[in-house]
Formats: sequence, C-alpha cells, structure tokens
Amino acid sequence: MSDENKKCTVCGQKLDEGFLLDFGYGNQYPTRWIKGPPEKTYLGMVAWSDRENVGVRAFKCVICGHIELYGDAEPWRTKKI
Ligand SMILES: [Zn+2]
Repeated sequence: MSDENKKCTVCGQKLDEGFLLDFGYGNQYPTRWIKGPPEKTYLGMVAWSDRENVGVRAFKCVICGHIELYGDAEPWRTKKI
C-alpha cells in the first residue's frame, strides 16, 4: 500500500507520516524495530546489533490522533544542507 493510500484504522481519515525519536546522551535517532525480546549485555546495555532490525515509520491520524507503525527496510534519507 502506498503512503498516500494509508487511512486511519480507527476513523478512516488521512494519516500524516512522521517518526518516533529516541534520545540518548548527545544522540537522537529514529526508533528501530528489533526482532525478539530485549536482552542485556554484560554491561547492562540492550543487545541488538546481531539481530534483524528495521526502521519504524509512524503515521498519525489528522483527526483522532491514532498512530500506526510500519517496519521499513529502506535506509534513512540524507537531508541535503
Ligand atoms: Zn483516526
């Protein structure tokens, strides 16, 4: 389904594309979906780099605010400055 044809599954209205942002110490990245349940490394961080993972695209309904998430294998776009 193309992005233009995506409709809210609650009220059927238009969805605006966006993304979920993760904040870290000095870093901000779009959220990624990681396959499997969360596990800690021996340093207490989340283990993820050897797992299947994809970017997450978020679409918010312009009327009711419902947010729908889609996994996306496309790489990030680079903004030209
Ligand atoms: Zn809606």
